[in-house]
Amino acid sequence: MATKKTPRTKSASAKGVLGIDIGGSGIKGAPVDLATGELLADRLRIPTPKLSTPANVAKVVKQICEHFVDYADGPVGVTFPGVVTGGFTRTAANVDKGWIGCNADALFEEATGRSFTVINDAQAAVMAEVRYGAGRDNNGMVLMLTFGTGIGSGLAYRGVSMHGVEFGHIKIDGVDAEVNASANAKDREGWSYKKWVKNVNVYLQHVETILWPDLLIIGGGVSEDAEKWVPLLKSRAPIVVAELTNEAGIVGAAIVASQGKP
Ligand code: BGC
Repeated sequence: MATKKTPRTKSASAKGVLGIDIGGSGIKGAPVDLATGELLADRLRIPTPKLSTPANVAKVVKQICEHFVDYADGPVGVTFPGVVTGGFTRTAANVDKGWIGCNADALFEEATGRSFTVINDAQAAVMAEVRYGAGRDNNGMVLMLTFGTGIGSGLAYRGVSMHGVEFGHIKIDGVDAEVNASANAKDREGWSYKKWVKNVNVYLQHVETILWPDLLIIGGGVSEDAEKWVPLLKSRAPIVVAELTNEAGIVGAAIVASQGKP
């Protein structure tokens, strides 16, 4: 079971790769040492603008790039909380609808003059976990589910991840799964962990009807309280808790930036 961790940072000012994680409430960035998966400096978190339009978010991304320029001045990786294909953001379940159809790579490139690769947040997280974290010993099919405002899903097979995996939107009784099984649903309804986990277990049953992962990694902010609810989960696949916690997006984004555009 994961315990709460202090940020894994180094004091050395070696060159790293900048990863930026766009979330509904905060935009977080840090330079990453890809030899170890460690952050080279404390991460910078800037609240997501109330109006989370592409233009407003691009200003924050630029600020984060400038802040870490001494640590990382090359290509940048960015995570986004929606579907991303070919650098375009395609959906915007929990952010401004102006992102639908936006050429996000080009938006950030124009704002900063740097090269960008934007990918889905849960896809980035699974990449980080299979390389450095809870999935590092499993070379099979690893599914990561992140429980937050929505439910993110990242799928990796033999260390390679895929885009467009949207298991948070599986329909259960005609409703998107994340409406009743995200961490947001628990907070919104004031449910106990025990009550909420019932919905999560129904959700996992649906997921495992259509997919047979070898390992299930549980992540998202609520995984920091993992000992209160993860033992109550039922799944066919073995369950482990994410190890990189709130750094997974940043680290996964940096991995992607280092690989170049897909
Ligand atoms: C989005 C996913 C995203 C997840 C977590 C969902 O609503 O559709 O793309 O990964 O939220 O942010």
